[in-house]
Amino acid sequence: MTDKKKIRVELRRNRTKPPREKPWTRGFQAHGYEDEATKSDERVRAKGDLSRYRTITQDTATAPLEDGSADTMPATADAECRPGRVIRVHGLQSVIETADGTQVRCTVRRLLKSLITEERSIVTTGDRVWFRDAGNGEGMIERVEPRHGVLTRASRRREHVLVANVDQLVIVMSLVEPTLKPHLIDRYLASAQQGDLAPILFLNKVDLVEAAPLQPLIGGYSQLGIPTLLTSATTGEGIAQLRELLKDRATVFSGQSGVGKSSLLNALQPNLALRVSKISEVNQKGKHTTTTAELIRLEFGGWVVDTPGVRQLELWDTQPEIVEGFFPEIRAFVPLCSFPDCTHTHETGCAVKRAVNRRQISLRRYHSYLGMFSGDETRKSEE
Ligand code: GDP
Ligand code: ZN
Repeated sequence: MTDKKKIRVELRRNRTKPPREKPWTRGFQAHGYEDEATKSDERVRAKGDLSRYRTITQDTATAPLEDGSADTMPATADAECRPGRVIRVHGLQSVIETADGTQVRCTVRRLLKSLITEERSIVTTGDRVWFRDAGNGEGMIERVEPRHGVLTRASRRREHVLVANVDQLVIVMSLVEPTLKPHLIDRYLASAQQGDLAPILFLNKVDLVEAAPLQPLIGGYSQLGIPTLLTSATTGEGIAQLRELLKDRATVFSGQSGVGKSSLLNALQPNLALRVSKISEVNQKGKHTTTTAELIRLEFGGWVVDTPGVRQLELWDTQPEIVEGFFPEIRAFVPLCSFPDCTHTHETGCAVKRAVNRRQISLRRYHSYLGMFSGDETRKSEE
């Protein structure tokens, strides 16, 4: 009595524009800066996009897979299927955790497996799945639920989903040792926006610096709607707020090495960082490149993921009109440029450059914009 429906499985999400409407730019949209014309254009799917999908048959009953409601069964013949969440992936094997904390090692159904050879991210950390439980600690993934927030990176020019179904990206920067790199913040913010993750900015090691001169920087990000906190893993400043922000959410921690991610994680929950670093080591040895990340359950509710290194957060897609979308305060001026395809680099009558000169857009943010854009130029010339 299985009710079947056809679903399309995305094979290759190549050069697809991310939607521009994102929570942290909402402030700007509320003030009427949103470019309505561009927005609706983006809903039109590019020609040939359909060919990137493959239709497979799937059971229609899709129970909501919230952590708490995980014992809802699909109304299908698959009575022995159970819901769970992928906490890590090793090649074709995944470790699934169910709502009661049981871990099951799963392979994937053959149909899904044939897709994996074409798309490495069919099953990834954070996925909510239905699996057939063999009862001996092993099982088989039968279905992967649609994803929301994802963190991706380009991998041989293909999108590689590092982790799925996460809510927010905690960007950890240190104020000193290593020194603060604002352009890096903007790159992480762009990644967050691309993956539909709410960004939170943590400026760590505040115990080592005078905080007052940081106010303009903090004010700038707060104005963009990004929660920005000063923290110290050493004195405990900001840790209570960190815990509050992480509770019951799935959070990716990212930032260069040495900024204090492990120290902050340990301040949250003893030995948390130890588990994280063990996983990172395996990743860096590099043989199992599909071992992406691990979801780690927080004692006070929620999950964290630590991603090693910055290079993994290279922007997946940096066409100029997309990069401009990462900078709401730049986007606000775009409709005023003389040329509709203005890249805001060399053009005359560019409203963005004019706004930079008038200090309506910060020079620092404009340089970040140029940096991401020239990344695109490099890529174009390779093609
Ligand atoms: P990770 O590589 O991002 O995980 O950084 P770690 O947590 O390993 O921290 C790197 C170094 O910075 C260590 O020596 C920490 O003791 C130190 N550290 C981390 N957080 C702070 C902080 O808030 N204040 C000070 N003074 N040192 C810190
Ligand atoms: Zn322009």
